Amino acid sequence: MSGRRWRPTPLILGTFGLHAGAAAGLVIAPAQWPAIAWALVGNHALLTAAGLWPRSRLLGPNLLRLPAAAVARREIAITIDDGPDPEVTPHVLDLLDTHKARATFFCIGERALTHRDLCTEIVRRGHAVENHTQRHFHNFSMLGPRGFEREITAAQDTLTGITGSRPRFFRAPAGLRNPFLEPVLAKLDLQLASWTRRGFDTVRRDPDYVAGRLLHQLAPGDILLLHDGHAARTASDRPVVLEVLPRLLDACAARSLAPVTLRAGTA
Ligand SMILES: [Zn+2]
Repeated sequence: MSGRRWRPTPLILGTFGLHAGAAAGLVIAPAQWPAIAWALVGNHALLTAAGLWPRSRLLGPNLLRLPAAAVARREIAITIDDGPDPEVTPHVLDLLDTHKARATFFCIGERALTHRDLCTEIVRRGHAVENHTQRHFHNFSMLGPRGFEREITAAQDTLTGITGSRPRFFRAPAGLRNPFLEPVLAKLDLQLASWTRRGFDTVRRDPDYVAGRLLHQLAPGDILLLHDGHAARTASDRPVVLEVLPRLLDACAARSLAPVTLRAGTA
């Protein structure tokens, strides 16, 4: 495995500079310590805010849309998180097949271990399996470098062992992270992928709402987020994703948009 070089963003470089300056300032002008402390507090608040904003690029590269070549090919990427799920994923795969669509599944390592056959079936049908951590911790964004590396490497090994293909993209649980994530992703040669729009289909039970969010200004290059795991249920107890996905795929067909994997869309 050969990682890529970690390139700190301007915000990260500024943070290093500020900390060095603060240390020097405390030596040269110790009486200024309140101002120095406030500067550090402000800097940390900014870093935290950037980590709580899934589509932010302040902490490192973050794929929010497919590149221009994919836009020219009228491609979009449907990404499906938190599976595999024995009840939902098989239906999702059938819907995608019916529409000759390809999708990217951000799988949780432990769920992939429990449902190995489903995980291999995803790949057999032409889709991609990518890394969504081994255990999908709710406090994932509070981990440090070692915690990140442990969770992400475990999922890399699990998913590669099951599918035979090493994940190239990573998505953080709920998209939340902190400045220690990007150096780990660089080391593991993974690219952070977020989304253009999400449907909130793990919390919203109304398929009209979820579909409306995803279809609003649907355009080539969009990366859309749905879930086969943790799916919210409609009033008639159907997983929301199964109501929304057919509408989304019909809308793609009507607009001559081709749903492809993130791998294909960024190739
Ligand atoms: Zn998730």
